Amino acid sequence: MWLVLSLLLSTAHAEDVRIAVIGDYGDDDDDSREVADLVIGWSPDHIVTVGDNDYSDGAYRGTFEGLELGVGQFYADFIGDYQGEHGAGSDDNRFWPAPGDHDWGDTCDDPEGLDDYLAYFTLPGKERYYEVRLGPVHLFSLDSMECEPDGATADSVQALWLRDAAAASDAPFKVVTSHHPPWSSGEHGTSDGEHMQWPFAEWGIDLVIAGHDHDYERIWRDDVTVVVNGLGGLDRRDFECAVQGSQAQFNEAHGAVRIDASDTELVLRFLTVDGDEIDMVTFSAEGGMPSPTDPDAGETGVDACAGGCGCDSSALAGAPFLLAALAGLFVARRQRPDWLS
Ligand SMILES: [Zn+2]
Repeated sequence: MWLVLSLLLSTAHAEDVRIAVIGDYGDDDDDSREVADLVIGWSPDHIVTVGDNDYSDGAYRGTFEGLELGVGQFYADFIGDYQGEHGAGSDDNRFWPAPGDHDWGDTCDDPEGLDDYLAYFTLPGKERYYEVRLGPVHLFSLDSMECEPDGATADSVQALWLRDAAAASDAPFKVVTSHHPPWSSGEHGTSDGEHMQWPFAEWGIDLVIAGHDHDYERIWRDDVTVVVNGLGGLDRRDFECAVQGSQAQFNEAHGAVRIDASDTELVLRFLTVDGDEIDMVTFSAEGGMPSPTDPDAGETGVDACAGGCGCDSSALAGAPFLLAALAGLFVARRQRPDWLS
């Protein structure tokens, strides 16, 4: 038996994989359609979302019809066990969403708020959060809402599940997706308290991709890369104070993240609907800081300023802010960690 097992392991070779990651999309309009055309044009093996999948209006939001408008009409070909009206769906599920505040119905008051979402998608595990192996990438999709029954703090049942699942994985790359980011320089800003500030690096996670803020940002902090990827089609929003470790910021156009991964390397790009490559960072399967990363970026960011704003500009000086220089998009405004709105 051991011989068979070792033979299986020695011949196991994870196929290269291409993954599109979209966030804050789900609106029935041309902007979300352009992002859908962009990512489908990449011929991805999988599409991963970082939440707020249903941005439909009024009575539709949080319903089957809302998900059809926000998701099904664009991405039905990737959805397994698809029950909607936009084709037959995919034989094997290739669509891996995370729930956001809008998917929960904009509130934590309704414990059944996520039921239509859970019925629409067929996902592993508890479905609200789950793990799936996508070639060399082990994806851990989290539910970052405070109303998650298994909790969403670093000592919650959900977090301890992540710790143990990541420890059991031999994947070259371990990627977490979550709607709320641990840190963000965007309008919503850093999640309140330590809500999503889990010890990701300690647990072997290479990369955390989140949304909620309608911008693109890459942060290196506590030995992990955090990407905010919320330009999937909704209104683009301004940045506020730069947080410590902020490496790149962009909000000038809609777009999405593309991941190309092999056994040895994972390349993450942010590409716009106009075809512009705004950011690219390369991770090695051996771990360590991805390239390029400036370990000193944003040293004087808002979190080092005793909560004061107005130090955001200096935080950017000397950092490799190709995107900031490109767009001049930093706006000093009041920090508003209103993460649930
Ligand atoms: Zn949100």
